[in-house]
This record gives sequence, structure tokens and C-alpha cells, in this order.
Amino acid sequence: MNMPDPGPRTQALVDLYGDLETCRRCPGMEGPPVHGHAVVSPIMMVGQAPGTREILQGIPFCWTAGKTLFRWFNSIGVDEETFRRRVLMSAVCRCFPGKNPKGGDRVPDAVEVDACTGWWRGELALTRPRLIIPVGRLAIVQFMSARRLDEVIGARWPYRSPDGLEADLIPLPHPSGASTWFKMEPGKTLLEQALALIDAHPAWSEIRAASADRPIDVQRRIAAP
Ligand code: SF4
Repeated sequence: MNMPDPGPRTQALVDLYGDLETCRRCPGMEGPPVHGHAVVSPIMMVGQAPGTREILQGIPFCWTAGKTLFRWFNSIGVDEETFRRRVLMSAVCRCFPGKNPKGGDRVPDAVEVDACTGWWRGELALTRPRLIIPVGRLAIVQFMSARRLDEVIGARWPYRSPDGLEADLIPLPHPSGASTWFKMEPGKTLLEQALALIDAHPAWSEIRAASADRPIDVQRRIAAP
């Protein structure tokens, strides 16, 4: 059976991911780079950087942090499979930064963040989402000036890209098991407020209503060579 034409923007995303998979620009990062489905979606989620499991499996948020993240989304009506097929899953950095000697994963430095910016900006320019969900501090500060998490989570913010895209920003904390922010007050309540705002957003209603077995503008992730 012939596959349906994926559409020019989806094809452009597939091409972008083909280039991304060959990127080895950062000597301190461990690849191969990770990305999600090439999906032209009204929602773009932006994570921080993959961990070792994500690099091994080539799938974003496939381990413990992902379990928490998808539990949050499930609580507002979108299961993991639907989310993966319908929402563009981006990240500030696409390779694993390595371990921090003091514990946890190393935070990518400014040079690495800058080197990887073109990939998520390319996704943003191609898909022009109406809702952007930055997850964790490193992702949040790519879109708004640095502030404390409790000053930005739990609210909706306007975003305007350098090329004139206007979208809503609803930031979330990072769902890492090492984080206590969203398990204690005020983080617990602010997370609930943020999820309620996502739930009420028209772009989320589209994703929730979409049948997971009726993907229209979706291409599966390009298989690794
Ligand atoms: S972190 Fe980004 S820019 Fe650096 S090698 Fe990986 S994909 Fe390339």
C-alpha cells in the first residue's frame, strides 16, 4: 500500500531530523542526537537534554522523568501514545551532557546550548505552534528572561519569536525524580495551575480530541542507519 504524502512541512521536519542525526558539533556531548516524531502540531514541548536511556533508545522522555511527565498529561486527558504522535517533542540540547561530578546530569554550558539552538528554532519555524510548553529551567529561559520557577509556573505568558510567531507559553517544572520542587508547596499547587491552563488551551483540546489511530500529518521517527 502506498503511504500518503506527508505534506511539505512534515517532509521538511523529516529532512531536518535527518540532518540533526548526523550532528556531532559538541565535543563534550554524547550522542547520537535524540528527537521525537516529525509531527506538525499546534503544540511544541521543549525539554532540556536527554539522559543515557534516551540516547540508548533514541526516544525522548522514555525513562523515569518521562513516566512522571506522561502521568501529568494523562491527568488532563492525553495519554502517552497520543502525545508522542500529536505533539512536537523538542529540547534545548539533543545529546547527553554527561554526569555532574556532584550528582545528576551536567547542565549543558552556554556554548552547547547555543550550538543546539538552531535545531529547535528550525522546528519552531516549520511548525509555528500556538502553544509552547517549556519543561524545566533551562528550557524556560530560552523563551523568557531568567526568573524563579515560582514566578513563571502556574501562569500563561505571551511569546513572540524573532520572525513574528505569536504563541502562548505555559511552563512546567522538570519532572526529574531528583527534583523536589513540584512535590512541595508552592510548587505542587503551581504545577496543578499550569496543568489546568494547558487543559483549558484550545490547542490542547485539539490534541485530546484527536484519535490516536487517525494520524494525518505524522511521520514515524526516521530509523537510525
Ligand atoms: S548537542 Fe546539539 S549541537 Fe551539540 S552535537 Fe548534539 S545535536 Fe549537535
